[in-house]
Amino acid sequence: NHAKQARRHRRVFDDAMARALQRKEALQARLTRALRNQQLTLHFQPQVDLASGTLTGAEALCRWHDEEWGWVSPGEFIPLAEERGLINQLGHQVVRSACRQLKQWEAQERHFPGRLSINLSAQQLDNPQLTNQLLRLSNGILPRQLGFEITETALMRAPQQAIRITRELQGVGFSLAIDDFGTGYSSLNYLKRFAADTLKIDMTFVHDMLDSSHDRAIVSTIIAMARALGMKTVAEGVERREHVELLCELGCDQAQGFYYGRPTDADDFADRWL
Ligand code: C2E
Ligand code: MG
Ligand code: MG
Ligand code: MG
Repeated sequence: NHAKQARRHRRVFDDAMARALQRKEALQARLTRALRNQQLTLHFQPQVDLASGTLTGAEALCRWHDEEWGWVSPGEFIPLAEERGLINQLGHQVVRSACRQLKQWEAQERHFPGRLSINLSAQQLDNPQLTNQLLRLSNGILPRQLGFEITETALMRAPQQAIRITRELQGVGFSLAIDDFGTGYSSLNYLKRFAADTLKIDMTFVHDMLDSSHDRAIVSTIIAMARALGMKTVAEGVERREHVELLCELGCDQAQGFYYGRPTDADDFADRWL
């Protein structure tokens, strides 16, 4: 009987695996095509100064709508692109469209303040030409108008390499944020050696800090540590006025989240913010 049940579980598991793999193969083919036809788009989410509520910049977030599969979430297609060797091509297109958008806002006399942040994947750090390529792709845009976000986990995958690359990026004038901070395992020793000017506090801590004194202590400690290292803090996932109030109290510099605005297309973003 036990054996029978185990066999049944096994079959259900195998079916689910097979379906997941099929979806992956299909999505990979569609994504390859979407990249070839440059069909990925960007949404923009405001980043604001917590004390004044004014815009300090935005994060560019990649979006993909497929005719057959509908909207595919970046949580699915970014890891897929990483796994299937498509992430460098995707990353290039994101930088190009982000810069094209900055120029277009400028042409429309929509003043974009601060900097536009673009996410980089771990594998993009393996490219020894990364800094030069980013400079080339952002031709016509000043480096200080762009920031790059790299997750703590991605930086810690090969910390020595990350130290070198972050210093290179900083050296040419790009700014750099450590994304999803608090979820990885960086040591304080590495933290000070990465050339990052901003820490983005992962949204899990922000969401839990209202109910948990532990999470509040974590957020407060991250802010104090960032300040000691001369870095700014951005809280992610700010959804409620209570988040804003507590983050202000704890001395956090900036915030990003649904409370201020969801990621939206360039026109909506400009109408609301620029
Ligand atoms: P991330 O860089 O940490 O981006 C923040 C994510 O949090 C975005 O999800 C955003 O829509 C979501 N978010 C913002 N405010 C709130 C809030 O108040 N509440 C909640 N629940 N969520 C909020 P999104 O757009 O689905 O992107 C997911 C992840 O995909 C990003 O996380 C980033 O790691 C990756 N990603 C997106 N675009 C790119 C890209 O162009 N290149 C690379 N390499 N990764 C990207
Ligand atoms: Mg990010
Ligand atoms: Mg994040
Ligand atoms: Mg994330």
